[in-house]
Amino acid sequence: MQRCTECNEPFKWNQLYKSLWFAFRPVQCRNCGTVHKVASASRLLTVLLLLVPMIYLSIVMQNFGLREVILPITAVIALVSLVLPFLLKYEKVSDTIDTNYGNR
Ligand SMILES: [Zn+2]
Repeated sequence: MQRCTECNEPFKWNQLYKSLWFAFRPVQCRNCGTVHKVASASRLLTVLLLLVPMIYLSIVMQNFGLREVILPITAVIALVSLVLPFLLKYEKVSDTIDTNYGNR
């Protein structure tokens, strides 16, 4: 599981899970308050992990009706989202971004 880059406090699975469902909302460390955002490579990984099985399913199940296809696709989304908190890399939001934000 991902740890805080500042104090090494491990993030909770449900913290990262929630972040995922809110369009990669930044996660704040429970211990030191450092804000982390999902690394861009991890966003790409998420898209691939969701898209590849869906494309595969739509090819394999192209002769099936919508009702038969919905279930495996839902299962894929559920499964991928359960595993993603373990795979995603989070990085500290850089200080320069914080300063600029204050000046706006
Ligand atoms: Zn921390």
